[in-house]
This record gives sequence, structure tokens and C-alpha cells, in this order.
Amino acid sequence: MQDLMIIGGGPAGLTAAIYAARAGVKPIVLESLTCGGQTITTSEIENYPAITKIEGWRFAEELRSQAEQFGTDIRMERVTGLSLRGETKVITTEKGEYEAKAVIIANGAKRRKLGCSGEEEFLGCGVSYCGVCDGNFFRGRTVCVIGGGNTALEDALYLSRICKKVYLIYRRAELRVHSVEADEVRAKENIELIFSSVPARIFGETRVEGIELRRTDGGENNQLAVDAVFVAVGLEPENAAFADCITLDAGGYILAGEDCATNVPGVYAAGDTRTKRLRQIITAASDGAIAATAAAEYIRSTGF
Ligand code: NAP
Repeated sequence: MQDLMIIGGGPAGLTAAIYAARAGVKPIVLESLTCGGQTITTSEIENYPAITKIEGWRFAEELRSQAEQFGTDIRMERVTGLSLRGETKVITTEKGEYEAKAVIIANGAKRRKLGCSGEEEFLGCGVSYCGVCDGNFFRGRTVCVIGGGNTALEDALYLSRICKKVYLIYRRAELRVHSVEADEVRAKENIELIFSSVPARIFGETRVEGIELRRTDGGENNQLAVDAVFVAVGLEPENAAFADCITLDAGGYILAGEDCATNVPGVYAAGDTRTKRLRQIITAASDGAIAATAAAEYIRSTGF
């Protein structure tokens, strides 16, 4: 029987591991891909207190190493199910089963798809969900970014440094985000903002050659020649595997408040996976600390 299983090795999960280990609880973190969560696909982080600027991959690496230094056991295993019928929590992965006294779900959220024609077909052939990961393939070329949130702005800025031209395509009549990045995007000579437009079709022979845009203000559709389409239209939770035992909200996020407690005693939700207003690295880390402290208290109070 394990003390504490943490599902997800992003800022929420790894912060939970650090706090749990320091509280005398032995954490095992299960991560399906790479530790760091969305920080891996962020070029630079500039809004984490006391760190003026750090590359996303370096932040992820530091966090993983810090968690390991405190004794966290990180295992690369994808979780496929959770059973909470008895007091013992059973976590099923592709490789086997774990029994645990407490569980923290910190599995984050995945990038939302556009759902337009050509998106699936050209995945990896010009359609990407990560500017930082794939931007280099389009050095000196013309690309577009879809979306108007923080990720789209950051992707557009990152790509503008390596691409000839970047179109930022947004469905509203003006940017809704007020930030340093929004001002920078407006000021960049090689970023062209295209408002009131959504992708209708991504087209090409074997690779992306262009995108057809539908006007949301009733104007005429038009086409743009681009070599790549970077999709940054938000996040979606990935909680289907927990839906039969954990209460989710209407959007599929785990219903948990600032105390990170779910409807099941001993099971906590931390970071982007739970209902919350502000999804940031710092709010994910905060959740991790809160959830781990609560889990440690739960384990002690139940006398497991
Ligand atoms: P987001 O904030 O939800 O923004 C998604 C954007 O995509 C919005 O502009 C939205 O338009 C647009 N959109 C949604 N569905 C669309 C569709 N089907 N077609 C076209 N456009 C669509 O998502 P995000 O930018 O990925 O950010 C996710 C979370 O991480 C947010 O909480 C964000 O604040 C946080 N984040 C923070 C930072 C930072 O602090 N530096 C960096 C990255 C991400 P509407 O505006 O019309 O809804």
C-alpha cells in the first residue's frame, strides 16, 4: 500500500510531491509523457515570483530535479482508471495497479482542437499545437496562429522571432487580453492581426499550403497562403477516466474548491484539472501545496 499517489508531473503534481515528501509522506508521481506539463511548451516564463525570466524547459527540469531531491519516485506510466469503492484507492495504469491511502489528481488539461477540415489530415505536416516545439521547422516561412488568449499571444511572439511573417487569427473584433504580450503583438512589424475570423478549412496537397477563413462579422470568407497553422484555442480537461467516481463540473473539470478536496475523502484535485478561475503556473503550484498538506493530514487522521 502506497501513502500518496500523484497523477501528473506538472507544476501542480511536482509541487504536491515536494510538500508531501517534506511532510513525511512518500509520494509516487505517475506521468504519461514528460514532467513539466505545459511549461515544457512555453518559451519563456516571466511571471513566476523571484524568477525574472526562465525558459520553460529549464523550469520543468529544475522542478523535476527538486522533487526528486526530496525523494519523489517518478514513474512514466499513463493512468487508465481509478477505483474508489473502498477506503483503499486503486489506480490502474497501462503497466499495472497501485493501492494508495490518498490520491492527488494533477493531470492538467490538453490543448483544444479546432474541429475544422484539414486539422487532423495535416497534423505534423503543418498543423501544430505547440509553437515552441515545432516553430523551428518553419524558420523564415509564413505561418498563422489561431486564438486570442495568452498562449496564442506568446506563440505569435515566439514565432515572430524566427518566421518571416505571422498572422494571428482571432474570432473577436479586438483582443480581449490586456497584457504586456498583447502590446508587444500589436507593435511587432511581422505580426498581422486578423480579427473576426475563424478557420473554415486548412488546405494543401501533402502539407499545409493555406487556410480558408470564415468571417464572424458576416464579411466574405478569404484565404491566406501559410506554411503552418499553430492552434492555440484553449484547453480541455482529460478526466473521462475518473468520471464514474469523481464529480466533474459541466465543462469536465474536477469539482473542487480552493481546498482542492473532491467529493471523495482522501482524493484531491490540483492545478488546471479542477474548476478554477485562473490557470497559471503559480496557481497550479499553490494547489499542489494545499492538496499535499491536506493529503498528509488525511493519512494521519485516518490512522492508515
Ligand atoms: P484561453 O485563455 O482559454 O484562450 C483561448 C482562446 O482561443 C480565446 O481567445 C478564445 O476566444 C479562442 N477560441 C476558443 N475556441 C475557439 C475556436 N473554436 N475557434 C477559434 N478560437 C477559439 O486558452 P490559452 O491561451 O491556451 O490559456 C489557457 C490557460 O493558461 C489560461 O488560463 C491562461 O491564462 C493560462 N496561460 C497563462 C500564461 C501566462 O500567464 N503567461 C501563458 C499561457 C497560458 P475567446 O476569447 O472569444 O473566448
